Amino acid sequence: MKQRPRKPAIPHPAQETVRHALADLLAGSTLSARDISGMLGIAEKEIYSHLEHLRKSLHAAGGMLEVTPPECRRCGFVFVKRDRLNCPGKCPVCRHEAITEPLFSIRLPQRSEKETPERSGAEPFDS
Ligand SMILES: [Zn+2]
Repeated sequence: MKQRPRKPAIPHPAQETVRHALADLLAGSTLSARDISGMLGIAEKEIYSHLEHLRKSLHAAGGMLEVTPPECRRCGFVFVKRDRLNCPGKCPVCRHEAITEPLFSIRLPQRSEKETPERSGAEPFDS
């Protein structure tokens, strides 16, 4: 019988753990999926699906996933209207394939939810 090469015992990280690590990374810096992929050791493709989930849960919590849209390196076309998070393959304007990667960061929910700073017109005057 052949001996199987022993792989180092790296347990499959639970999905939640990955998302937690992802949120941690993005809370501190703006990164592309490739950056994140290198840092967490996860395929870029998976990063995007985690980002989708993260976007939803952040939104539900009152924060948001900030996306710097990809841009064509040749003509400067910006993919602002894209709903997908992944990198487009090709520029619709000049057909160039060198597109910058979208960048991600997190805007956390406001800390004090009870105090609404939106009502800036209301001065604390007691008349
Ligand atoms: Zn272009």
